[in-house]
Amino acid sequence: MPELPEVQTIVDDLKKRVRGRTIVGFWTDTPKIIKHSSAAVFSKQIRNLTIVDIQRRGKNVIFYLQQRDRSKEVKIMLVHQKMTGHFLIGKWIIKKSSGKEIAVSQTKGPITLDKYNSYIRMIFYLNNRMQLGLSDLRKFAKVILGSVKEIEGSDDLKNLGPDALSKDFNADYLYSVLQKRNKVVKPILLEQGVTSGVGNIYGDESLFIAKINPLAKSKSLSKKDVGKIVSAIKKVLKRALKLRGTSTIDYRDTYGERGSYDKVRYVYDRKDLPCRVCGTPIKRVKINQRSSCYCPRCQPLKK
Ligand SMILES: [Zn+2]
Repeated sequence: MPELPEVQTIVDDLKKRVRGRTIVGFWTDTPKIIKHSSAAVFSKQIRNLTIVDIQRRGKNVIFYLQQRDRSKEVKIMLVHQKMTGHFLIGKWIIKKSSGKEIAVSQTKGPITLDKYNSYIRMIFYLNNRMQLGLSDLRKFAKVILGSVKEIEGSDDLKNLGPDALSKDFNADYLYSVLQKRNKVVKPILLEQGVTSGVGNIYGDESLFIAKINPLAKSKSLSKKDVGKIVSAIKKVLKRALKLRGTSTIDYRDTYGERGSYDKVRYVYDRKDLPCRVCGTPIKRVKINQRSSCYCPRCQPLKK
């Protein structure tokens, strides 16, 4: 799933490439991605709106949309790319294949050549003849259009904890959260209500850098330990942002290109491979049905 560095990379790309553009048409073959509205109504509502800004909130992409003449209030289109969704900017033509419509890429390079970019579920046609497409193999992405009040008040945004890169996410704050719980630390770091933006990849990576075992109990961690976790999270997110994210599997940027953090990752999805620091094989454990990878030597479980 795209986490803070991947979503921010996409948002930064979108700001450069589609801000100021007007949506002149819409296509989808997967209407279930659009929530609270039919594809026909959504298509009508979105048409002729100009993309005035794009922001990231946690792992959500927020499009601010307005009529060209600014005659009506700003609307928000919230997109959560979920497991395998990612935006691409290119050109596609719609072809019929055994009765179904499919989007066929006309863009040279990875958007056409890399199969992870080929699952186009929706296309926003822009007024510069470019198209904003959403590729999503698993079809779990979510798109909601509404007023600023509606979207800001929705469960998607109102329950988000402080952004992992913000000043509000600090050692005092996280220590007070962890002291109130008596649970394993790793899944708490992934709760978007605790801090927004961190997921499984950067949760594993941060705990490695902080030398904290993912199975450590939250209450057992000292203020110093928690300080290490917070600075590790910020450090790893910034580094991954510089490297344009992690593409172990699906994630691509708006050019269809891979990120390169996965080439330098320490532990995430590296079961049995040697630790980059001490050479010990990386271990994998399941915590709440999800995999966690760690080095048993660099991240000992303190008794
Ligand atoms: Zn190690």
